[in-house]
Amino acid sequence: MIVIGALAAPTVAALAVLWLAGYLPAAAALLAALAVVAALTILATPRLRQFRTLAAAIGELAHRDQASLSESIGDPPLDELARMVGAAARERDRRRDQLEMTIAANEAVFARLPDPLIMIDRERRIVRANPAAAELFDSPLAGRDLVGVLRNPAVVEAVGEALAERSGRQVEFVLPVPIERSFAARIEPLSAATADGSVALLTLHDLTAMKRADRLRADFVANASHELRTPLATLLGFIETLRGPARDDTAARERFLAIMDGQTQRMARLVADLLSLSRIEMNEHRQPTEAIDAGRILLTVVDSLQMKAAEKNMRIVIDGTVREPLAGGTVQAVASLPAVIGDGDELAQVFQNLLDNAIKYGRAVSTIRVTGWAFASPSEHRDGGAPMPALRLDGAAIAMSIEDEGDGIAREHLPRLTERFYRVDTARSRELGGTGLGLAIVKHILSRHRGWLDIDSEPGIGSRFTVYLPVADPADPRQ
Ligand code: ADP
Repeated sequence: MIVIGALAAPTVAALAVLWLAGYLPAAAALLAALAVVAALTILATPRLRQFRTLAAAIGELAHRDQASLSESIGDPPLDELARMVGAAARERDRRRDQLEMTIAANEAVFARLPDPLIMIDRERRIVRANPAAAELFDSPLAGRDLVGVLRNPAVVEAVGEALAERSGRQVEFVLPVPIERSFAARIEPLSAATADGSVALLTLHDLTAMKRADRLRADFVANASHELRTPLATLLGFIETLRGPARDDTAARERFLAIMDGQTQRMARLVADLLSLSRIEMNEHRQPTEAIDAGRILLTVVDSLQMKAAEKNMRIVIDGTVREPLAGGTVQAVASLPAVIGDGDELAQVFQNLLDNAIKYGRAVSTIRVTGWAFASPSEHRDGGAPMPALRLDGAAIAMSIEDEGDGIAREHLPRLTERFYRVDTARSRELGGTGLGLAIVKHILSRHRGWLDIDSEPGIGSRFTVYLPVADPADPRQ
């Protein structure tokens, strides 16, 4: 009504002026005014209805998800306007969906990042932290003061500098609890504060494993040099003696040459073991592909060492009775064990090293027992419910154990025996020609074969070294 009033007002005003000026009689002016209002009412009402429909639909589009103007309003220009408004609303919805997807993806990345990540505000208060950070500090972090959480002066200083100078900083620090770990902390100021007030990002990268590997590498080089230096020094000493005081002493020369020969052989063994270890390590990630008879390989190695055992009056008994059976599985003749996926030369080296040790560390006039076992399924690898090493194998497996009657090994040494150069008695190992690398080589070869070495020993009675290997799966396409 107001709209029609507004439209009719100029005409009605003009009629009033004409009436007042005496150009129109009052009745005619009134009639004309009524005619104008009536005509405007008739003409404008449907148009106004169309506008109202359009306004209502636009209002709905502004508030509702995925709304659209599907019905025609009945006027081509208004329909076109409606279509344009609909398209704009759809574009808005598409962008909003895209934005929501991007936010969800960012949230997923934030949550799944393996490295701890913390967002802080201008007051160094933690605004957000990903689950890795919460796990590292074993508590929810949002709202806490970063200084109270990290308590490390170097990190606190670096954060202060990064915020003040608006440039990134990196600092290494050690978290002493619950276990000592080294981290690299990187603080990056954001180009603009985010909606939640974050102004900088702090990431922590765990350096513990890398530092440990560095230390191991340095220890290894030091150990290897030391092992080589000792025989080398002996050789140099004897060369000097043979050139000087013992120049004409034939008996001494023979004795010294024999010692020099022994030392040279020791160096050669050490170099051979070092080379083998590095070769195996290089291939460790590549599993062997051929199906082979590991039992036969073990028997061949036994044959080749019979003479060495006989020198100490030792007997190597195959498939005889064992002192103590392995938990689970069934005894099976070594010659008829199922095939495994393996590298024949490497498995021969495993058996050679283990049998060699059994002869070296076994008592003279004693027995070495070689036994085979078969495990049909992982459930058989249980030791009264306790986890067995072979549980790490997820299917059928075989085990070959080499058991000696030696002095045995005290329990505290067992976990470290496969470390390079770790020996229970270094002097004894050297005297027996050991390099301290035999079991490290065994461990790496078995790891390449997805197998496992189990060491069991009773001081004063003897030791048992058991090799577990997964059985070749006939359905495996590699065979
Ligand atoms: P090594 O060359 O010294 O024998 P290994 O790596 O083969 O080096 O073995 C590491 C250490 O484990 C040996 O020095 C020895 O102390 C101990 N060891 C290995 N096998 C036996 C065994 N059958 N009986 C007793 N001790 C053993």
